[in-house]
Amino acid sequence: MPAVDLPHPVTGQLFSSPVPPGTGWPGDPADVRTPVAHDASEVVELADGRDLTELTAAISVCRACDRLVAWREQVAVAKRASYAREPYWGRPIAGWGAEDPAVLVLGLAPAANGGNRTGRIFTGDRSGDWLFASLHRVGLAVQDTSVHARDGQRLVATRMLAAVRCAPPDNKPTIGERETCAPWLVREVVLVEPVRVVVCLGGYAWEAALRTFRTLGYDVPRPKPAFGHAAERTLVAGGGCPVALLGSYHPSQQNTFTGRLTEPMLDAVLGRAAAIAMEG
Ligand code: SF4
Repeated sequence: MPAVDLPHPVTGQLFSSPVPPGTGWPGDPADVRTPVAHDASEVVELADGRDLTELTAAISVCRACDRLVAWREQVAVAKRASYAREPYWGRPIAGWGAEDPAVLVLGLAPAANGGNRTGRIFTGDRSGDWLFASLHRVGLAVQDTSVHARDGQRLVATRMLAAVRCAPPDNKPTIGERETCAPWLVREVVLVEPVRVVVCLGGYAWEAALRTFRTLGYDVPRPKPAFGHAAERTLVAGGGCPVALLGSYHPSQQNTFTGRLTEPMLDAVLGRAAAIAMEG
């Protein structure tokens, strides 16, 4: 049976799943002319020399990782039963938030039925609910929820991004996929520098941040600083601004249900990030 276009939950406009670029999805950074990376070398090529608008668009149509492209699109077609009446974005999730942020919030990768559905990072799943509520409590988001593009949510001096931009099966990208996606992250960090602080949600994001800043010429000690909740490490680069790395347990349900991560714990880390940003 042919797929039926479904209405966007906020605008009501009909979309197929995955959403083709340039068809009117709120905040879609790409259109049919946006260049598409089909492999790792094309990611390197397309990440180089672009401004933030162009980079965001190119990320949102990337097809460099065969396994992840197949998975994100399969999920977008099959859909979770509770979202069966919604279109799924089904494309990579670009960075979102301020274009000149003081704070970066770095995660692992979008969730299959969260960001991969809504098209906005950390939006549409329980992890994101926790994260946005906390960002709002510490003054880094104007609303305490983020449910869909065009819901009025806006970050304050903050940008969110993921180390890997496509939803991976079991939330586990391969090392090759991580490395293929890394030039997008490195270029995005370059374009928003100087940032004052990077909040790393989980050990994977912490490691990705260390690799990224080492690539950018920051002095990252060996052995590398260990990840932990509320871990804090300042990295410096010759002539560059220092950047503080803050670690937080990821607000996954595994952590929040078990009490490993509580709201006060998350607020403390994000509040520390806000305080560092204010010092700037
Ligand atoms: S994970 Fe990154 S490099 Fe791979 S397809 Fe998605 S956006 Fe492209």
